[in-house]
Amino acid sequence: MAGVVEAVTDPVDPVAVLRMLADGLAATEASIIRLQAVKEAHLAVAQRLAEQLAVTDRESLPEHAPDAVGGMSVELAHRSVAAELAGVLHMSDRVVQGRMWQAAELVHRFPETMRAFAEARIGLPHVRQIQDAGARLSDAVRAEFEAVAVAASEGETPHRAKAVVQRAAERLAPRSLTERHRQAQEQRRVWREDLGDGQKLLGLIHSAAIVDGIYDRLSQQAHTVTTANARAAKGEPMPEGLGDPTDARTVDQLRADLCADALLTGTPSGHDTADGLLSAIHPRVEVTVPVLTLINATTGSGAPEQPGELAGRSPIDTDTARILAGDVPSWERVLTHPVTGAVLAVDRYRPGADLRRLLHARDARCRFPTCGLPPSALDLDHTIDAAYGGPTDAGNLAGLCRRHHVLKHHTSWTVTQRGAGVLEWTSPTGHTYTDTPPAPVTFTTTDPDSPPEQKPPF
Ligand SMILES: [Zn+2]
Repeated sequence: MAGVVEAVTDPVDPVAVLRMLADGLAATEASIIRLQAVKEAHLAVAQRLAEQLAVTDRESLPEHAPDAVGGMSVELAHRSVAAELAGVLHMSDRVVQGRMWQAAELVHRFPETMRAFAEARIGLPHVRQIQDAGARLSDAVRAEFEAVAVAASEGETPHRAKAVVQRAAERLAPRSLTERHRQAQEQRRVWREDLGDGQKLLGLIHSAAIVDGIYDRLSQQAHTVTTANARAAKGEPMPEGLGDPTDARTVDQLRADLCADALLTGTPSGHDTADGLLSAIHPRVEVTVPVLTLINATTGSGAPEQPGELAGRSPIDTDTARILAGDVPSWERVLTHPVTGAVLAVDRYRPGADLRRLLHARDARCRFPTCGLPPSALDLDHTIDAAYGGPTDAGNLAGLCRRHHVLKHHTSWTVTQRGAGVLEWTSPTGHTYTDTPPAPVTFTTTDPDSPPEQKPPF
């Protein structure tokens, strides 16, 4: 071990050492994944064995034995096999029994996923994500789902592949999200729970758009108060009622106080200015609606609907998406290629705010490989610096989070745009990593007068 540490802390050529480390880790990771796949295969065989044992047991029972005894023998055979394996795996037999079932499901119902896993093209977290999303699909469509889900998972983090995997399952699900949403909405409720120490929890279950809207409004109000407090501390004049240099409440605490105000009095009464500055803050919910969903709504076409998405993350039912889309006075259209997801055109295109919205739609997450930070956290970076003649257009701009923006500018990582929004990153060791824009976004409903990204491109 000491030898390894010395080699790393006093290298002859740090880049060569890093290259060696990267190659070594890649090989190690692939070996671990292949072994995990072998483990799944063993567990699947154990499940099959338990089923066979149950049959053998049942055949040995007297012919007139009640069915209940037969059912019990199946469960007992599984428990018996699981208990044996639990002894060597040092895990509880209940957990092993669950793993056996899960492994058998993987091997028999998700053969393409198992193949990609055994070849170390995807890892265990990807596999579980695909299994979870595909669990409710019928045998008839599962292969189609697997093809999309495995392709989306290869070379991506599970977090970044998640939206594509879930969308594919959504498209092929026996019941649409809209139907499930209608049923789930019947479960909406408010409840409270005792937490001890004189505290209680207030819970609310409602549709995703409502809850996001509430949370966004409270966050905007809380940030307005913290900003005012900071400015008051510097002695700047503030509207009456706002800005207290002694107010040390965190944003979390402020959200809670403002929420309590609004629910008890209808306004953030305890903390607002005389002319209601905080009350005037409206929630901002960003929703993307696939173009086919809206066309189907107007033409009554029977094509399968695609759900809308809140800020490119959680899918929402089409009814809510259409209502939100109709509620916004003006909304721009972003046409995307149905396969590549490349942004093709934006209606009412103008430089400046329109370009920013186009990139906001295309780069629905940081464009560094493996990063998943959302648009609200991104800077617009000129791939080729404007100072070196890089143009301010979609082919030379990309959304990067602060961490990866700094990495690009201050290390020897470099990036090239390959067209259609595809970015090719080259590491200091010479490895290249390709980052393609997230899957198609077709409509956005951000208010054109107040684009969410106020930061100037640089
Ligand atoms: Zn990033």
